[in-house]
Amino acid sequence: MLGVHDEEISSLALTRRQFLRRSAVAAAGAGLIRSPLGGTVTAEIIRGRAKKVLILGAGMAGLVAAYELTQLGHDVTVLEARTRPGGRVHTLREPFADGLYAEAGAARIPNNHELPLKYVKTFDLPLEPFYPSGLNAIRFDRGTRQEVPIEGFTEAMNVNFGEDLGGKPERWYKIKGGSDLLPKAFARHLESKIVYGTPVVRIEQNANEARVVCLKSGKPQTFVADSVLVTIPFSVLRKIELPALSSGKRDVIKRTHYDAVSRVYLQTKNRFWEERGLNGFAFTAGGIEIWQPTWSQPGPRGILMTYARPGEAERITSMKENRRIEATLKQLDEVFTGLRVNFEQGTSKCWTEDEWARGAWAFIGFKDLATAMMPEGRVHFAGEHLSLWFSWMQGALESGLRAVKEIDEAQYPVRIAVRF
Ligand SMILES: Cc1cc2nc3c(=O)[nH]c(=O)nc-3n(C[C@H](O)[C@H](O)[C@H](O)COP(=O)(O)OP(=O)(O)OC[C@H]3O[C@@H](n4cnc5c(N)ncnc54)[C@H](O)[C@@H]3O)c2cc1C
Repeated sequence: MLGVHDEEISSLALTRRQFLRRSAVAAAGAGLIRSPLGGTVTAEIIRGRAKKVLILGAGMAGLVAAYELTQLGHDVTVLEARTRPGGRVHTLREPFADGLYAEAGAARIPNNHELPLKYVKTFDLPLEPFYPSGLNAIRFDRGTRQEVPIEGFTEAMNVNFGEDLGGKPERWYKIKGGSDLLPKAFARHLESKIVYGTPVVRIEQNANEARVVCLKSGKPQTFVADSVLVTIPFSVLRKIELPALSSGKRDVIKRTHYDAVSRVYLQTKNRFWEERGLNGFAFTAGGIEIWQPTWSQPGPRGILMTYARPGEAERITSMKENRRIEATLKQLDEVFTGLRVNFEQGTSKCWTEDEWARGAWAFIGFKDLATAMMPEGRVHFAGEHLSLWFSWMQGALESGLRAVKEIDEAQYPVRIAVRF
């Protein structure tokens, strides 16, 4: 891993042994020039040579890229602003009691999203159905309250959000133990290659190298590499200094709109709804999903949560935490009568106020997608927003793999300094 203080840039220094090993696999005739000072310096295009790659962001796009580039023999360092991997894949375990958990971000995996399913299998993680098959859900439709089998819930998803979110309940899975087990598994394989607590503040490049400035304990630190992969959401990237990028790219980064999503979680001392034949899932007239993520977790306590999309999400975000909980308690007490007396504690997650996401997801639009995805020199881009599967882990993973191919095949001049 390369981590050097500003103005102390040693860049791509290899030991003689590393150099000889890499030279053996590099394309023949790399054309190294013996320096009069004893070392060897070259500025050649060497196809297939291991590259030094900086990945900005340890969300699904950054993690899959780091993992696969490492497998290909590249030297990867990941700079992550947060103190954890996963980005928008985040399982809330606090403040809940008894080891209960609920998802702040990605929760559902449909059976046609082959990439999350592939890595779940790679890391041997357990899957389980997302929806309970027993008891009834509640559906509010055209002014009526109906108790329906869970198919009624997914049908409401179909009607309100389209086929991508509907279909048969059996096509939906979740990771048993929490979605964050997936990014944590990637991170375990990457070990010390991820540097946490390092928000990136500037990205620059010249013909020889790319440079990234981040803050470590508030102090600027510069990293140098052959390639940079930016997976930072555009909502955050627009606040970073980007002299390395064209005005066209900067314009798309500035204009991209991110949707708001808010979730409010209520922990209860028991699952009183089950005695009434209910499974804790409901779909409101206002298009809000209500989930009981604990249906497959050990009791007796439970969690009911709301999932509000744009429109309602901004209203919740504008409230203080205790107001969010109180308003949700009032709303859900009308759906599951008796909730208030069983309520123990609550929490919330509003993605527009998350400093490192500033929104839930983005659809850039077909017109701008090509410009937004395009690498510029040594700077490459990935993230859910740069995929046709935006707003899904599938999109983040797919974009990360596309960037792996780009970086692996990139042919830009590389600088090697060899120490003897
Ligand atoms: C509410 C919600 C529900 C969702 N539901 C589902 C679902 O059910 N199923 C599904 O498949 N997907 C779902 N998704 C989508 C899925 O979570 C995302 O598509 C995916 O996690 C995005 O990954 P990413 O790597 O593109 O971005 P991110 O996860 O945002 O990763 C980017 C990383 O960059 C870091 N970063 C930001 N700024 C900086 C900086 N300046 N310097 C360094 N690092 C920085 C961030 O901390 C983050 O770790 C949901 C998302 C949300 C928000």
